[in-house]
Amino acid sequence: MTIRYIDEIKDLSGKRIFLRVDFNVPLDANGNITDDTRIRAVLPTINYALDCNAKVIIASHLGRPKGEKNPKFSMAPAAIRLSRLLDKEITMAPDCIGNPAKKLVDAMKPGDVIMLENLRFYPGEEKNDAEFARSLAELCDIYVNDAFAVSHRAHASVEAITNFVPTIAAGFLMKNEMSFFEKAMQNPVHPLVAILGGSKVSGKIEVIDNLLNKVDKLIIGGGMAFTFLKALGYGIGKSLVEEPLLETALNTYNKAREKGVKIYLPVDCVVADRFDPAAEIKITPIQEIPNDWMALDIGPATVTLFSEALQNCKTIIWNGPMGVFEMDAFSRGTFAMVSAVANSYALTIVGGGDTDVAVHRAGEFAKISYISTGGGAFLELLEGKILPGIRVLEEKGHA
Ligand code: AMP
Repeated sequence: MTIRYIDEIKDLSGKRIFLRVDFNVPLDANGNITDDTRIRAVLPTINYALDCNAKVIIASHLGRPKGEKNPKFSMAPAAIRLSRLLDKEITMAPDCIGNPAKKLVDAMKPGDVIMLENLRFYPGEEKNDAEFARSLAELCDIYVNDAFAVSHRAHASVEAITNFVPTIAAGFLMKNEMSFFEKAMQNPVHPLVAILGGSKVSGKIEVIDNLLNKVDKLIIGGGMAFTFLKALGYGIGKSLVEEPLLETALNTYNKAREKGVKIYLPVDCVVADRFDPAAEIKITPIQEIPNDWMALDIGPATVTLFSEALQNCKTIIWNGPMGVFEMDAFSRGTFAMVSAVANSYALTIVGGGDTDVAVHRAGEFAKISYISTGGGAFLELLEGKILPGIRVLEEKGHA
């Protein structure tokens, strides 16, 4: 089934569009936005709706107010930033449902923008409550979801609302996410390689299982590699390990080999005598990790190995850093891989919060084909799941 996008809806002029976005932006201690990527990401959809003379009602959550009104989590800073980016006045509604919101919406003229207050000020949002969803739906004629990063959540403004609005569509950010995902997973140009890193195997086992049916090569780095290495009989010192998953890791490794998927693990690493930026460090082959040291990054031989493995690939999917890149001493492996991926001649798709941060910090984001805005949502797509927010768009997004 396919999804209908906002540009396939005829005549938006004068219509009230409820636009679900993810403006869950990071704020500093004084409530200032420290990164507005999520706001910028939906500007094409907002601008399109405004060009069509629609009335745009923007709805999002921010932080975890746990179903209670809390000014600390107000959408007001996001409204101010959006106003600046659009160079347009935006009305901040004091609530997301009820009379105050309704009155403001009734007074809207075509081309106006309203920002609703935090959806998660009501417990009904996260409970996917039908009554709460109905109250949201009362504000609009058309529902547009451009919040890919929350599409894996069956929340009222993502799922239940679609039962109460006659016209449903997705925005352009969602269109980008879905089209790159399709290019990577449903219809990839081979060879396809997945690079997985991050701290743990748990939480990524379903991803690996699903990827083994799709990829030609699987590269495993980061903390999760050491559970695999231990399962294969290496002494890994005090490196991160998930003992209960040793057998699963071994089975996964063998399954990959049976399926003919080429699997790559680190051959050397940066070890430290403690988890500290000032720790003593050295580079060792994985056969020589000292008993009371821990591996916190991939080593230079591994970077060469992994980079060579990328050489003939046409599609690369990457989730999870290769080491503790937050500390300078253990960031080189991740940054070297960012550079290898960015300079490859493949279609490159990076997803997951940390990997995104690493790519930006390495200054290579412009050379990556697509950086997904969804952490959990991106991982769940890689697991082969159908996300609740996408499922309703597929089922109900038709004329
Ligand atoms: P995840 O949330 O599972 O994607 O993991 C991301 C985190 O993994 C980052 O904060 C990294 O610091 C951490 N990480 C990566 N490599 C290692 C390692 N070798 N040991 C411990 N933590 C690691």
